[in-house]
Amino acid sequence: MNMEIEQLQFEGIDNKRPIVIAGPCSAESREQVLNTATALAAKGVKIFRAGIWKPRTKPGGFEGVGAVGLPWLKEVKQTTGMLTATEVATPYHVFEAIKAGIDILWIGARTVANPFAMQELADALKGTDIPVLVKNPVNPDLELWIGALERIYNAGIKKLGVIHRGFSSYEKKLYRNLPLWHIPIELKRRYPNITVFCDPSHIGGKRELVAPIAQQALDLKFEGLIVESHCNPDCALSDAAQQLTPEVLDFTLNMLVIRDNAQTTENINILRKQIDDIDEQLLTILAKRMRISKEIGIYKKEHNMPILQSGRYNDILENRSKQGQSMNLSPEFVTEIMKSIHEESVKVQMEIMK
Ligand code: PEP
Ligand code: MN
Repeated sequence: MNMEIEQLQFEGIDNKRPIVIAGPCSAESREQVLNTATALAAKGVKIFRAGIWKPRTKPGGFEGVGAVGLPWLKEVKQTTGMLTATEVATPYHVFEAIKAGIDILWIGARTVANPFAMQELADALKGTDIPVLVKNPVNPDLELWIGALERIYNAGIKKLGVIHRGFSSYEKKLYRNLPLWHIPIELKRRYPNITVFCDPSHIGGKRELVAPIAQQALDLKFEGLIVESHCNPDCALSDAAQQLTPEVLDFTLNMLVIRDNAQTTENINILRKQIDDIDEQLLTILAKRMRISKEIGIYKKEHNMPILQSGRYNDILENRSKQGQSMNLSPEFVTEIMKSIHEESVKVQMEIMK
């Protein structure tokens, strides 16, 4: 579906750095909210986040203070001038958040994965023009993410942005949620106008990963960052391990390198021309390989031979990956390419056999 999404025009810390949304995972008390917000505002942060209703994996965890926390956010707005943002998961949340003057809503990863919940939220948002940020669903499904955006867009919300917060996986090695960068990159390719935020806190799950992940997002030209920051992270009631103090957040933001888009030099254009030429050669060679593969298919048909000869297939995979390695190509990469070429050959030969 073609969506005419409006680019979000929020003020950054300065005009060079990304749009920054920062604040605690959860609003816990009036004091914690105001202390954190005041410290962030002093560092130039213009948008304050705090979860009022918290989707928790298991019952018994801290599920947010609920609507009693909304006046605290109103106070943040009045005393610091920051915009405020919170997560909504039900029509009741939407109603209460808008009534309390919240400026930006976001929809959490678990909610985005559920089309019924998304439709209910979209219906509740009809007639408003509040900016909405849609997090990626927990599962790496780009169409589901886009479907959620379409539901909100169809409700008349044009100020739409997305938050890349990574994808759940069974194994938790380095990341809490795998970044799978190609998914937000593909979303941005399809909807160039959409404002993309990275949430390095939920991707990394640990304080020390916030800076490197945020840097990667900036290198990919994401427009914004949403980062969890708490005045006393070690005592946070949710996501303690990944929250930064406002001071450390400020230090981190100052360290990030902003690369200059306008610096496309002559040299890179020459290199790109070489890549274009090589791609053409690759395609010509691939087409030639496919023609030969077709001839083999005809031969197999005439001699009543099966298409798949696993001995031959294994030899190809093994030899090519060794050959590739001697040319400095990773064996995994070569194996993937050869598998994909072989799959296409089998398809072509099956057509011939029919
Ligand atoms: C959050 O932002 O605190 C949150 C719960 O995020 P997610 O929906 O990405 O898990
Ligand atoms: Mn959190």
